[in-house]
Amino acid sequence: MTTRLARLTFGGLGRRVADATKPLWRRREFLGTIAAGAIAGSFAVAQETKGQEATAQREVRLEFLRPKELKEAQTSCPTIFQPLGTIEWHGVHNVVGVDSVKAHALCVRAAQKAGGLVAPPLYGGVGGVDQPHTFVMEPEDSVFSKLLRPWLEQLCREMARDGFRAIIILTGHYGAAQQIVVRETAVRMSRALGIPVLGTPEYMLALDVGYTGDHGAWGETSLMMHLYPGTVDLSQLGEPPHKGVGGRDPKKEASAEDGRLIAETIVSRLAVLAQKMPTWDYKTLDSFIDAEATLVAKQLSAPRGKDAIWTAWRNIGRAMRDYGKQLAEGRFEEIKTSVAEL
Ligand SMILES: [Zn+2]
Repeated sequence: MTTRLARLTFGGLGRRVADATKPLWRRREFLGTIAAGAIAGSFAVAQETKGQEATAQREVRLEFLRPKELKEAQTSCPTIFQPLGTIEWHGVHNVVGVDSVKAHALCVRAAQKAGGLVAPPLYGGVGGVDQPHTFVMEPEDSVFSKLLRPWLEQLCREMARDGFRAIIILTGHYGAAQQIVVRETAVRMSRALGIPVLGTPEYMLALDVGYTGDHGAWGETSLMMHLYPGTVDLSQLGEPPHKGVGGRDPKKEASAEDGRLIAETIVSRLAVLAQKMPTWDYKTLDSFIDAEATLVAKQLSAPRGKDAIWTAWRNIGRAMRDYGKQLAEGRFEEIKTSVAEL
């Protein structure tokens, strides 16, 4: 993701620690404690064997399938995941492909758990931090996407034409404009194609375990420590502030255990959605579209043409805390109620 979000969420929070919003910070620390407790309990089971199991699991990466296996997978669960990211600086301790490889790994785990297939990750999107080794394909705060939007539209059309009946676009790169473009395109394609298309950043599915999105900080670094342990080198970090990092200090706070809780939460919700979405009737589809359209409309309109593009995110950790759960459980009316609090 990008520095803007970091400034308005974690970065902004950091500045406010000493004043009025101190309880918010404490709540976040509290959530971190819950996360650690949960990991020590129910999640700390057979971590060692998981990697071995994964290698024995079926191939879900679209590009590695022959037509027969592809058709079989499609027949059993006609959902396709499209991971999104970019090439972007994520601190000296992280690889530059964090956003894409993180989203891809989460989609692969969900597909292996629930069914469905995973398209190759897309590298490139809206915005990126002002640091080396960052490919900025479109301006950071511009919702007028000329590259990503039509590319996603055509991908969705081709996926539907190929027989997929639900599409989950998961972006691991999340500037505000990137998020708006992805969700807005998904809403419009759901309407146009008559199948559910969800377009969301992965952190939105883990707000209730305390991850509200950051940039190369506690959350993303923890996720990478869990998903790709060999890629993170915390020893390369000096003292904060860390260049091009936004959020809680990864050197002090990031851990594979926290990454596992965040990843498990996201994957479990994606897995439920992958199974349910192709079975939705039109009434359910319409309620889903209605809720998603309400969310993106708020994100797009909240600045009223003059405030920061991040205006609708200032309260996201509290207002949309249960979004992942509500989405997985089909409680779309509740999502609309939460959006009103943004
Ligand atoms: Zn990122």
